[in-house]
Amino acid sequence: MCQYLRLRGIGGIGIIRMSGENCFEILNRIFIAKNQQKIDEIKGYTIKYGNIVENGQIIDEVLVSYFKAPKSYTTENMCEINSHGGNVIVKKILEICLKNGAELAEPGEFTKRAFLNGRIDLLQAESVIDVINAKSEREAKTGIKQLEGVLSKKIAEIKQEILDVMVNIEVAIDYPEYDVEEVTSQQILEMLDKVEPKLQALEKSFDNGKIIKEGIKTAIIGKPNAGKSSLLNAILKEDRAIVTEYEGTTRDTIEEFVTIGGVPLKLIDTAGIREAKDEVEKIGIAKSREMAKEADLIIAIFDSTKELTDEDMDILELIKNRKSIIILNKIDLPSVLDENNSLLKKYSGNIIKLSALNQVGIEKLEEEIIKLFNLNEINLDNETVITNVRHKNLITKAIENIEKTRETIENQMPLDMVAIFIKNILENLGSITGEIVEENIINEIFSKFCLGK
Ligand code: GDP
Repeated sequence: MCQYLRLRGIGGIGIIRMSGENCFEILNRIFIAKNQQKIDEIKGYTIKYGNIVENGQIIDEVLVSYFKAPKSYTTENMCEINSHGGNVIVKKILEICLKNGAELAEPGEFTKRAFLNGRIDLLQAESVIDVINAKSEREAKTGIKQLEGVLSKKIAEIKQEILDVMVNIEVAIDYPEYDVEEVTSQQILEMLDKVEPKLQALEKSFDNGKIIKEGIKTAIIGKPNAGKSSLLNAILKEDRAIVTEYEGTTRDTIEEFVTIGGVPLKLIDTAGIREAKDEVEKIGIAKSREMAKEADLIIAIFDSTKELTDEDMDILELIKNRKSIIILNKIDLPSVLDENNSLLKKYSGNIIKLSALNQVGIEKLEEEIIKLFNLNEINLDNETVITNVRHKNLITKAIENIEKTRETIENQMPLDMVAIFIKNILENLGSITGEIVEENIINEIFSKFCLGK
């Protein structure tokens, strides 16, 4: 069976991708290499120049890459036809492939095959989506690390530790006459003590993973004229790569995804801030309250040239007990507020001075965010990070099963009962990498892929 992919939109080249036992046969019927070389003679990992031909007519001049099984993305025979871009030609070649026996690929089908054929595990397959959808460099990097199998390896190591003990348990159950039960209970508890913190660390890494993936939901609040839109501009200038605009969770708000010093921020209601041009429209406390409610991080901005007013006090109330950074803006002008202001210090431990208009001191904001969310680059590079909520839930379940195993041992339950819970832990971990996983879950995972991957 063969499938193909269609790249949407217009580009310099279009790629039609086929995979499956018959894909070279189909190719043979539609492609004539310039040097007339037969397909059997072509080595894997080569590119041939020639024409796609239908009824003796040249449809397009193309380059075809050959990947012979098992050394391909799917581990099957594969080829990629690089045609001229544009909808007409690519579509035409697709049709010709179809007519000659190819079938249309489902979203994610190529990666699904790579998984089903055992080249990558489920976790790695899922990271392919993360790499494709990455909105920041950090996210892409984490995805690539998972694709390389860093997390899979870690899970495999933990599983091995459990399996080593499981073997003894099986022996104790199968040969009760050897009376190894005592020893085994002790062994199990020791193993659980070793394994649990590792799983807990992974579970905890999800907080960082979530930030990498979804960005820190950030609200910029402050009374009119404090400098919100100037700060927004300064951040956007700093980071020319605004990646996406999201519909906010509350109606009529737009969220913009930016990275500041490599840290992804999802800014809440940037449109509201920009549009608030005249005095009447300027964002006030009610709007600020709404924005603050949704945020993981609140940046409260104050005009350092003026004494704090009642309105400022209202803003300060919004950041009480929240992750926040206070910005004292307009430091290019003579100021009356500074970081030592005892009232401000009561509301936030993070006070920085900058000039939004002149874009001076924006890097201090970056540093503060990195500190506040423990986003040290070194940490992220060395740590294995969970970014996928499915993985996180399975790890949480595994930890719960560790607790249950402990309880059964403490309650001196028979060893075969203990074994059931240990098997559950193994099953939870196995579901992450896809060794034991139901078909509908697999289908759901791959349905999130784009066509052609
Ligand atoms: P918003 O109402 O909070 O969005 O405030 P704006 O960003 O529109 O700024 C209000 C006014 O303060 C504008 O005239 C800005 O040019 C000015 N402003 C903003 N930041 C600074 C700054 O750092 N220094 C100076 N001197 N003026 C600033």
